[in-house]
Amino acid sequence: MNILVLGSGGREHTIAHQLHLSPQSNQIFVAPGNAGTQQIATNVEVDLSNFEAIADIIKRNNIKMLVVGPEAPLVDGITDYFNAKPNYKDLMIIGPSKKGAELEGSKKRAKEFMKSHGIPTAAYQSFTPETLAQGFAFLESLKPPYVLKADGLAGGKGVLILNNLEEAKQELSNMLTNQKFGSASQQVVIEEFLDGIELSVFVLTDGKDYAILPNAKDYKRIGEGDTGLNTGGMGAVSPVPFADEVFMKKVEDKIIKPTINGLAKEEIDYKGFVFIGLMKVEDEPYVIEYNVRMGDPETEVVLPRIKTDLVDALTKTATSQINSLHLNIDEQSATTVMLVSGGYPEAYNKGEEILGLETINDQDVFICHAGTTQKNGKTLTNGGRVIAVTAFDLNFKNALNKAYNSIDKISFKNKYYRTDIGKDLA
Ligand code: ATP
Repeated sequence: MNILVLGSGGREHTIAHQLHLSPQSNQIFVAPGNAGTQQIATNVEVDLSNFEAIADIIKRNNIKMLVVGPEAPLVDGITDYFNAKPNYKDLMIIGPSKKGAELEGSKKRAKEFMKSHGIPTAAYQSFTPETLAQGFAFLESLKPPYVLKADGLAGGKGVLILNNLEEAKQELSNMLTNQKFGSASQQVVIEEFLDGIELSVFVLTDGKDYAILPNAKDYKRIGEGDTGLNTGGMGAVSPVPFADEVFMKKVEDKIIKPTINGLAKEEIDYKGFVFIGLMKVEDEPYVIEYNVRMGDPETEVVLPRIKTDLVDALTKTATSQINSLHLNIDEQSATTVMLVSGGYPEAYNKGEEILGLETINDQDVFICHAGTTQKNGKTLTNGGRVIAVTAFDLNFKNALNKAYNSIDKISFKNKYYRTDIGKDLA
């Protein structure tokens, strides 16, 4: 079958790579893609908010399955757009309806969903410019640190954690009345701070049944020891050593089941990935956030550990047959380290030549392209996050060593990466 993957990051390269391994995939298209996807698929230039242009690509290339990588087209309703078109009724879409995507598109909606389905999460209240005074009063009732979240999508920057009450009030006011995050902060969720360790769990669901994918932990900050500015993610590991069977059983019973039952009860059309960001507080899981797609770089460590044919798994998802999906998970650990352009997540250069990629021929290493492009036969940097080097081994430390050994062979001007990915867990 011909498949179209939307997006251009490491997540999409990994998805395309796993689809490519399946004998069921014929031609794979990635829009817009990167230099990595170009090696195994056809890249198509398109604006992801232009659904008509995407429909045209689907029609012209006899696409049977659409896999939506990033959240924005889902929150904008791409699934509903195709479901409403009779000519596309046989198109299998991996990604929820607009109503399902609200779980990521609105933090207030996500919190209400958790509350009404009894899913453990931090206590919260939400506020608008009209209720700023109540927001101040709620902050006064809490202990520091204070967690302020812009309701809408803010590119991963809309969450502020502040130690000082006056500063928290000032920021609340900036968000609500000065539109610090534009329309995303017209509403703000204030929640109790959860003191614990973070991890993420992933499921595939057809809105009624689910299959649990490998869990992962990512490293968000730019600096060693998880310091400095937030990034899209500097590395990830899977599985998470501290998420043992007992804990994962709690996650399934207290979080995954009620989440999927909640989708079914609310009759939400949801066929795709659910990414559940968790905080483990004294052995109990609490939901921090839902994302309605896979994460990046978590995809780079999660999907390659699934040995089941991905086309088959996604077909069962799209056709409501998840109850017959049994995933075969690789016992090996996967670790990924992101190579980024110096300066990221602030200003950085693009167009630097990347050398040494062809020298890596370790079977246990997967070079995943993120911000890269191909020009005149050269591979160039084309974004902040450039390459994710993923390595596999039964021994977690060996997997890390393999990733770091390969990194030494790749060079580009101002290459930067964290040297401590997974070290806290090893
Ligand atoms: P991203 O897109 O980066 O995953 P986001 O902007 O959608 O994040 P959240 O995931 O809700 O927002 O929060 C960002 C980060 O803030 C979390 O990964 C977590 O480290 C921290 N955080 C969020 N809520 C809480 C909380 N209640 N207690 C402690 N830390 C929190």
